[in-house]
Amino acid sequence: MDSEAIHEELDERAADAAGQVVAWRRHLHRHPELSNREVNTARLVADHLRSLGLDEVRTGIAGHGVVGVLRGSAPDGGRVVALRADMDALPVKDLCGTDFASETVDADYPGGPFPVSHACGHDCHTAMLMGAATVLAGVRERLPGTVLFVFQPAEEGPPVTEEGGARAMVEAGAFAGPVPTMAFGMHVTPYPKGYVGYRVGNQYGASALVRIVVTGKQVHGSTPWEGVDPMPAVGAVLTGIGQLYRQVSAFDPVTVTIGHVEDVGRFNIIGQTVTLWGTVRCAVESDMAEVERRLTTLAEHSAAAYGATATVEYLQSVPPVHNSGPWVEAALPTFRRVAGGERVVETGATLGYDDVSEFIRRFGGLYVMLGVQDAALDASGRPVPAEGGRGLVTNHNPHFYADDDTLVTGVRLHAHVAYDHLTGALVVR
Ligand SMILES: [Zn+2]
Ligand SMILES: [Zn+2]
Repeated sequence: MDSEAIHEELDERAADAAGQVVAWRRHLHRHPELSNREVNTARLVADHLRSLGLDEVRTGIAGHGVVGVLRGSAPDGGRVVALRADMDALPVKDLCGTDFASETVDADYPGGPFPVSHACGHDCHTAMLMGAATVLAGVRERLPGTVLFVFQPAEEGPPVTEEGGARAMVEAGAFAGPVPTMAFGMHVTPYPKGYVGYRVGNQYGASALVRIVVTGKQVHGSTPWEGVDPMPAVGAVLTGIGQLYRQVSAFDPVTVTIGHVEDVGRFNIIGQTVTLWGTVRCAVESDMAEVERRLTTLAEHSAAAYGATATVEYLQSVPPVHNSGPWVEAALPTFRRVAGGERVVETGATLGYDDVSEFIRRFGGLYVMLGVQDAALDASGRPVPAEGGRGLVTNHNPHFYADDDTLVTGVRLHAHVAYDHLTGALVVR
């Protein structure tokens, strides 16, 4: 059988699996689980992979990670493609407006209770990769290599007292054998439905979680001079962060966001400490050390100006998602075959992050965006709301939505990328 014929067969099998993929997606959407708590999601995945008769289904990797191993027919083993989906949800209320919206609350999560939802679309990622496993298992005797179906926990970052995520999977030996010759991932995004967006260079930025603890001296609210109030120091830090942008090149995008402030005071008590939780993002990885150094200086010296102290820690560092020119060049024919040439477009860089970068930088490979919303592209190629649609809603917003009809494109993308890599059509030599 020639390769053209099998591409058609992959599409037919993906179309056959589409209904089940949508059902899985809706089930997962209704039952989201936070980072490092993906117990039932992982069980659903592992049960499905086992039902396909894969050669191995490894579970419990770095928490709830699952890797399915599908060995094809190559006598020497051949190439090894790692297809990756992330499984975790977010502490965000679900206002997506569908009848499968989540009403889940995680009462026990550190810092919680939290409403939980798939506001980043990882329900779609998991369901699409489960569908791709169905498709590829159906043609296993014609695969000249091995497919690893990698279901990753804690992409959004585990609780700070826990390990987890992509690097933890590597460290747990998930890829010790066979070692991937390519890693592939995708993310659903507010782009026109069925569009594949790619970027040569950094698709996503480098990221680090920052924790700043400002310490004063606790005292009665009526006698601030008897103690040290950490609150004005915190105000100075927050204001000063707005000036950090001016201390690195304006041509290298950087963001620093403090998304959560935690104090131990009360309306009539000046508390001992205030803890700031935030994220630092840099489009250029080498800027990260400089931004961190300046943020540390800002926090320590701002606190000192008010007689307080500050300690600054950087946690959960994630490298940028980098697509090299040769990998993109090699993959474009595959993307165009799957999505249609006019729907494969270059995208801008974003300061989102995805720790799939831990796989791609080790094994080579690619990461693309998959459009899932009622969007169109304007004359300069930027997404704008399509007329009469639900608008553009970014990931992590409570109203984030993804259209079910586009999931089959993701299934096909996984299947075609895997097949083309294993046959040597999508490789970097
Ligand atoms: Zn996210
Ligand atoms: Zn995400």
